Amino acid sequence: MKTITLGRDGDQPFKIKGIGVSHIHATVTIDDFGRWTLADNNSANGTYVRDEVTGDLIRVSDKGQTISQMSFVVLGSDTAAGCSFYANQLTNPGNFVNEYLYMRNKKLEFDKEEEKVARNAKWVRLSIFILMLLFTVGSIIYQIFDDSHESMNVMLWGFRGLSLLTTGAMTFYDAQGKRSKIIKKRNKFNQCPNPECHRKLSGGEIDNLICGRCQKL
Ligand SMILES: [Zn+2]
Repeated sequence: MKTITLGRDGDQPFKIKGIGVSHIHATVTIDDFGRWTLADNNSANGTYVRDEVTGDLIRVSDKGQTISQMSFVVLGSDTAAGCSFYANQLTNPGNFVNEYLYMRNKKLEFDKEEEKVARNAKWVRLSIFILMLLFTVGSIIYQIFDDSHESMNVMLWGFRGLSLLTTGAMTFYDAQGKRSKIIKKRNKFNQCPNPECHRKLSGGEIDNLICGRCQKL
């Protein structure tokens, strides 16, 4: 069993400069089976772990919770501005390859999801267009072959106008709401893995596996 104390007076293998981090802030225990447990030490500002799915920061209690080496830990702030790092840094300090690969995979997942939403929006647009086209052509054919119902004409023209408007409006439909939700979630996974940097990385930096500010892979 191995215990690592996190904090400004902790024995983690990197320096903690973040504001809001207590002297003895939290503890990570690695048991003989390789299971990792993170527990808060009644710190003033809390200890957080990022949810792998939603990207939200979840507060860790003093009872502790199981984490993995790729868990993203934040000490002292629920905005990741305190001190943030992947648990992997505790046993593999200064090497960020695994973290960058993890971030790139996450980004790819979200990119794929975004592409799917864009593709679906295209199909919705096309389906509405075809439906409205069929209706308009059908109503014209109906009118040609059935001139006994002249009173119907005004109504038919009304419907045609409406279908034209709908088609027009639909050309701008690109599921923007759904896409911005995905982008927002994706941005929760783009923190620089260097505990002394915690800057938000751009998509290009993640693809190139390097932070432009601290230049660390
Ligand atoms: Zn950085």
